[in-house]
Amino acid sequence: MKFGGTSVANLDRIRRAAKRVGVEVAKGYDVIVIVSAMSGKTNELVGWVNETSPMYDAREYDAVVSSGENVTAGLMALTLQEMDIPARSWQGWQVPLKTNSAHSQARIEEIPTDNIMAKFGEGMKVAVVAGFQGISPEGRITTLGRGGSDTTAVAFAAAFEAERCDIYTDVDGVYTTDPRVCQKARKLDRIAFEEMLELASLGAKVLQTRSVELAMRYNVKLRVLSSFEEQSDTAGTLVCAEEDIMESNVVNGIAFSREEAKMTLVTIVDKPGVAAAIFGPLSEAGVNVDMIIQNVSEKGVTDMTFSCPIDQVKRAEKALFDAKTAGLIEFDELVADTEVCKVSAVGIGMRSQSGVAAKMFKVLSDEGINIKVIATSEIKISVLVERKYLELAVQALHDAFDLDKAA
Ligand code: ASP
Ligand code: MG
Repeated sequence: MKFGGTSVANLDRIRRAAKRVGVEVAKGYDVIVIVSAMSGKTNELVGWVNETSPMYDAREYDAVVSSGENVTAGLMALTLQEMDIPARSWQGWQVPLKTNSAHSQARIEEIPTDNIMAKFGEGMKVAVVAGFQGISPEGRITTLGRGGSDTTAVAFAAAFEAERCDIYTDVDGVYTTDPRVCQKARKLDRIAFEEMLELASLGAKVLQTRSVELAMRYNVKLRVLSSFEEQSDTAGTLVCAEEDIMESNVVNGIAFSREEAKMTLVTIVDKPGVAAAIFGPLSEAGVNVDMIIQNVSEKGVTDMTFSCPIDQVKRAEKALFDAKTAGLIEFDELVADTEVCKVSAVGIGMRSQSGVAAKMFKVLSDEGINIKVIATSEIKISVLVERKYLELAVQALHDAFDLDKAA
């Protein structure tokens, strides 16, 4: 059972979460509880680090920002003990949750189960584990990236072969799209790992992307549910293997990301090595390039367009102009369009049903929305459109693909 920041935001909420844990213990389960820091705490800690040392040492960043989870783990264990439930807290290094040395973005390497299993053997009913943190081969504290306690939870579920992994959050499940943008958004009872992975990486913030990858790899049944509503066996959304979903719409979700930019390199030479010379420096500069299109070349020259998050435009410009100055690439102009957003339709049904792209383009055209860039994968179609059309595009697609109705 994983409780996110809003579910442990104060002592009252921790008590409420502990009651949930108590229900499972009463059913006879041994429970591993993963906790986040109280909501807002990690942001505050990150702020303190930046203020103290803008070019901080990532090892000390991790030492500071991991601390929020230590507090909630201890408080949760104490709360459970007050309810006469034998509980003990564990920080990442005590488990030990072993990671690599990539501070602030560490990857989990191993979770030995013997320490915690031994305690269960001695009568402990609940192990409360601080999410988001681990220990490097050098013995330093690491963190798993923002939102990383979801990944801690899934990794524990896999390592301990848990029956379920319940992720308690402040929304009651995964929706067909953001209800703030589209009133008709509907909570999904089930969603396939692949779809959730697309939705998470497209910006649906309910689960950290890596946690979904991990759940898919180890086939961990994940349930996303609210800690503010009454519990029932069908509450929330089950994220599961495709085989466990009987009926599914062709499109199951409309995702979007508001803050996109489209950048075009005008007049580049069309010859081997040019794309590598462009995207190499961008990747070294840490620019997350998403969609890429190279236009038809005429007389050996072409244009190259790509998209990236809007806050990386400056970095991308610097990397490309530096590469030009160094004589690594040639281009006439670099045009940045920062008034775009990305809207995507996601659904495993696309694999077997044709015409989804055509329908999506028709819906947008009927609304008078111009498509600037298109990218597709097996189960996703994404378009870049003008940002002012975001709401309209999402609502029109949600309607057209009947997402308000269950399959
Ligand atoms: N507290 C960390 C964060 O805010 C980890 C988490 O809550 O998942 O990013
Ligand atoms: Mg989270």
